[in-house]
Amino acid sequence: MDSTQIDFTKYQPILDKYKVFIWDFDYTLLKIHAYSEGITQAQVESLNWNKLSKSHFSDPIFFRDFVSYLLKHQKNIAIISFGTYNVIKAYLDRLFGGEPIFGLHNIYTPLEGNRRYDATLRPSSNKNQYIIDLVRSLENVKYSDVIMFDDSKNILDVAEKDLGINTVLVQQGIGFTRNTIDNLLNTLSPQKIFLKKDQKEEKKKILIEGFTTQEKPSENLNNDNLNDIDDDIDDDSYDFVNGINKAFYVSDQTMIYINILVVLLLIVWFWNYYN
Ligand SMILES: [Mg+2]
Repeated sequence: MDSTQIDFTKYQPILDKYKVFIWDFDYTLLKIHAYSEGITQAQVESLNWNKLSKSHFSDPIFFRDFVSYLLKHQKNIAIISFGTYNVIKAYLDRLFGGEPIFGLHNIYTPLEGNRRYDATLRPSSNKNQYIIDLVRSLENVKYSDVIMFDDSKNILDVAEKDLGINTVLVQQGIGFTRNTIDNLLNTLSPQKIFLKKDQKEEKKKILIEGFTTQEKPSENLNNDNLNDIDDDIDDDSYDFVNGINKAFYVSDQTMIYINILVVLLLIVWFWNYYN
């Protein structure tokens, strides 16, 4: 099986902030809804990997490598789903090659074995009780240490509001991917945001004070991500406006003479017009 070849150390800010990582299953780790589609354990076990990885999983190799990285750093991982346990387990066994990374200890669902919903069992409207059970089973973990990925806004909103966990909504049909984590990382990098603001100020200053077209300040930084500050400042309009101001700049004294001259010309014009 492939590997992402990603340098996971860049995700350190995420590891610094959270101790527990929770994923929903259908529409989150999968881009499809296996329960609604009636997919069985036997089907998952017999499908070829190519089909599973491309048509069922959202971003399996990234998820697998990210989970390994989290475990290496003593993070807690869990799946909280309303899907059938054996089906979820079969998918994860295919992905992790049977390694006991996910199992009864960290897959939470009301559907044990191959059970499905019926008149006697309905899914709950939220996942709060599972989150409470999970956090209580761990030592030194607060709800604010938890982050949960799910495609259901309602489930996330209730968990965030009632328990105070952190949540990330994923899009149905796309699910949890490398982009999800990269976007999360961007929201956790105040240093970069600070630098961006600084660079904007500096750039403004150079353009106003010197009316120069010096090289872009962002190029002095070894950070490609800062290049997008160019989108925020339109160099040409800055230079143009300041150029006009400079070209037509006159002192206050000169302005007074010009005003007197204009008034005199108006008086002469009126005099001629009415005589
Ligand atoms: Mg879901």
